[in-house]
Amino acid sequence: MGSLLRPVDLVNQPLGFQERHKILQKLFKQLQKAYAHTKRTNIDLERLATRLEVHVAKNSLSGQSYKFNMSILLRDILKYKGDLSKVKINGRPLKGSKPCLYSNSNTGHITTKSKAMEALKSLILDVKALEKNGYIVEEMQNEVNDDNNAQLYAPCLRCNTNFKKIDIMEKTLCRYHPSKRIYNRDTRSHQYPCCGETTNSVSFLRLGCKTFLHHVFRGESYNELCRISKFSSTEHIDGVENVLSLDCEMAFTSLGYEMIRLTIVDFFTGRTLFDHVIQPIGDIVDLNSDYSGVHEIDRTKCPTYQEALAIFLSENLINKNSILVGHGLENDLNVMRIFHDKVIDTAILYSKSKFKVSLKNLAFEVLSRKIQNGEHDSSQDAIATMDVVKVKIGISPRQTTWKE
Ligand SMILES: [Zn+2]
Ligand SMILES: [Zn+2]
Repeated sequence: MGSLLRPVDLVNQPLGFQERHKILQKLFKQLQKAYAHTKRTNIDLERLATRLEVHVAKNSLSGQSYKFNMSILLRDILKYKGDLSKVKINGRPLKGSKPCLYSNSNTGHITTKSKAMEALKSLILDVKALEKNGYIVEEMQNEVNDDNNAQLYAPCLRCNTNFKKIDIMEKTLCRYHPSKRIYNRDTRSHQYPCCGETTNSVSFLRLGCKTFLHHVFRGESYNELCRISKFSSTEHIDGVENVLSLDCEMAFTSLGYEMIRLTIVDFFTGRTLFDHVIQPIGDIVDLNSDYSGVHEIDRTKCPTYQEALAIFLSENLINKNSILVGHGLENDLNVMRIFHDKVIDTAILYSKSKFKVSLKNLAFEVLSRKIQNGEHDSSQDAIATMDVVKVKIGISPRQTTWKE
């Protein structure tokens, strides 16, 4: 039996690992029976079983209800001949609650490059969708309201103090909470998950459980972004029609928020075409290492932004014919400072409201893959994003050779 068949670790699991594992094996066998006359491979079924089991585990409050729900699931899979849209857990249909739950059991039916290209092109966002989601699609005239204050001052992204940007490298004390507060209905106050402090607390810790010697800011308007460096358009570079998945890591610098690592992966071969730590233009304020995974930038070895740009904007990498794949790619394109209009964005593809699904959750739901446990890794993220798109159009993430 394949190695994929193990229950997903959960913080609150209704039953021990051993017992969940046993039930998971039963579920897999049941799925084999139900889908015996279909093209689904054992790998597909292992993934489906893993995903169904974790769904039930997450939706069962006790070991008792988990066992009960699983017995219903085992029974109904055969009863409805594998039609999962008819199966209910806790009275709720599987379909709808988690739309990606079993959408990828259909991989492997696209095997030619031309078919894949056709499917990919259907996912490219139109200009309206790009603009609505914060993409900068063309050179804009200077914004009218670019008053002096906005140029001189910025609110700190962490503590909200309005500070003079020019003084950013001078030491000060920024006290903040690294995680966003959430509302607690019982206590009727906001609580910070990082430390448990509430907004009602009398302790000075409510102001923040972490301190840093500088404030940080992030300019997001076109003008503010241009102040770091100008945008380049891909329009002027004619090159191969490639499909590239990309992801950046960012850090706070004296100029705002800048790219410090970029990974570009080829969609068809899965090969990494570019992966470098990059020197930002401004002075480093905070590398955000816990998050970015970048711990130091060697100014003697790492390419500068301009050097990196000269490499990644080229006939064989990002050019006007490239289809770029990313998750919340507007953030990446904005820190790369490029205009590009052929974009597939998994954050838009999989989100129904303005609250976008995280790549971490998406990778877990669609690929049964755990990423971003701790530091982020742009290489891991670019590959996960690419694989989510592959699954979306019915390609196995394992496929690396293609018929034309
Ligand atoms: Zn805190
Ligand atoms: Zn601050």
